[in-house]
Amino acid sequence: MLTLLKLLKDGRFHSGQALGAALGVSRSAVWKQLQLLEAELGLSIHKVRGRGYQLASPLTLLDSVAIAGQAPSCDWPILVFDSIDSTNAEALRAIDRGQTAPFLVLAERQTSGRGRRGRKWASPFAENIYYSLVLRIEGGMRQLEGLSLVVGLAVMQTLRGLGVSEAGLKWPNDVLVGQKKIAGILLELVGDPADVCHVVLGVGINVNMQMTDEVDQQWTSMRLESGREFDRNHLVAQLGQMLQVYLGRHQVDGFPAIQAEWEQNHLWQGRAVSLIAGFNQIDGEVLGIDSQGALRLKVSGVEKVFSGGELSLRLRDDS
Ligand code: ATP
Repeated sequence: MLTLLKLLKDGRFHSGQALGAALGVSRSAVWKQLQLLEAELGLSIHKVRGRGYQLASPLTLLDSVAIAGQAPSCDWPILVFDSIDSTNAEALRAIDRGQTAPFLVLAERQTSGRGRRGRKWASPFAENIYYSLVLRIEGGMRQLEGLSLVVGLAVMQTLRGLGVSEAGLKWPNDVLVGQKKIAGILLELVGDPADVCHVVLGVGINVNMQMTDEVDQQWTSMRLESGREFDRNHLVAQLGQMLQVYLGRHQVDGFPAIQAEWEQNHLWQGRAVSLIAGFNQIDGEVLGIDSQGALRLKVSGVEKVFSGGELSLRLRDDS
């Protein structure tokens, strides 16, 4: 099915006969595959008698050579999948198989893309970025402190650099435009964090997506914000270079050197919020973050500090 898609991706008309010949199958088999492409990948294909088949709009697929050519400093291997359960899951399997880090896993779509606490990340085919960069960490806990916030900052700066000037941060690691989520980050760790471990930096960015019924909160995409389509290979290259800059600063100087920049870009600084931890809710005002990336809230006039992967921040209606 994906071989057929690659023949069609130029957006030109191709006759059923030519497609069948290229694939070594009958015209009716081509027809069935086209129907599958529409049903499974949500693509729209024009069928015109006498001319053949044409994708409603041309597709640029992920291309590791094009990415590497635009980001020569990122010399990590790039594994590109047409379809995968989750790039983070594949990255964890690759670590298990002994793949040497750093390496990058990308996919055109995820069938079980995930957010924090097992929530789903909507991942339609060839529209967005599903990105998992694996690093080997030897420096112990200090190298992990605030790491997911650093990744958020690098994603935000990449989006701004490409024209999404309103992108900002929401603790701990969402990238928003106004109240709408444009990117999410999920870090996963294997090994001994106090000694040698691997960390998977999972990033999902809404790039060219214009509609979906799979997201149950406000969202947006780079295309919706800017009115233009983006080259995902260029974006992956830009993100890799930005991550190198921020991860380098984090490695050398630690999170305290990045704390102020993160706070300056926190959209909810000073806002009245509720912090949700399971069934518990704590109301307070955002003071900022501490030198390890934990959230500082003023609760009933007293500063309290919160950290941990189970926490969610919501704006209070009266803020
Ligand atoms: P937090 O608890 O920090 O507010 P969250 O509720 O945004 O986080 P995450 O785990 O970061 O949760 O992301 C998963 C959630 O993001 C899903 O429950 C869904 O509401 C939303 N979501 C899923 N796919 C997308 C997408 N492609 N773009 C934007 N939002 C998405």
